[in-house]
Amino acid sequence: MAVSKSEIERRMRRFAETCQAGGLKLTHQRMEVFRELAGTDDHPDAETIYQNVRRRVPAISRDTVYRTLATLEEQGLVHKAEILSGRGRYDANMDHHHHFVCTECGRVHDFYSQALDDLPIPRSVTAIGRVESTQVQLRGICAGCAKSKC
Ligand SMILES: [Zn+2]
Ligand SMILES: [Zn+2]
Repeated sequence: MAVSKSEIERRMRRFAETCQAGGLKLTHQRMEVFRELAGTDDHPDAETIYQNVRRRVPAISRDTVYRTLATLEEQGLVHKAEILSGRGRYDANMDHHHHFVCTECGRVHDFYSQALDDLPIPRSVTAIGRVESTQVQLRGICAGCAKSKC
């Protein structure tokens, strides 16, 4: 699924602002890696991002893309989610949201829910540690896969 042009621009603006605020240089390669991620809601893994960026920037190396993603994650510019296979998947949607993961095709769909944002944290969790963020992951069969099965 494609992300709308205005949403991509919003993500790019936020990206530039956060880089400036954090003193991270806005290099061409960082811009291109982030632009690739900002334009999709597929939650791609690093290898997929590399393959797509390479089409636009043939000189970029796999190592650069992987390192750039790690830097962006460290700086809080992208999210990394361990979803099904344990391979890290990247997400440029920095609005608080939740995931529906299709166990058939592996696609990750973003959704928003105030009720889930407000879920009470069980008291037993405080014994485990301090919660810094929460995200709900639902698993199931997406509509597309359900349709192709019948
Ligand atoms: Zn599916
Ligand atoms: Zn997401």
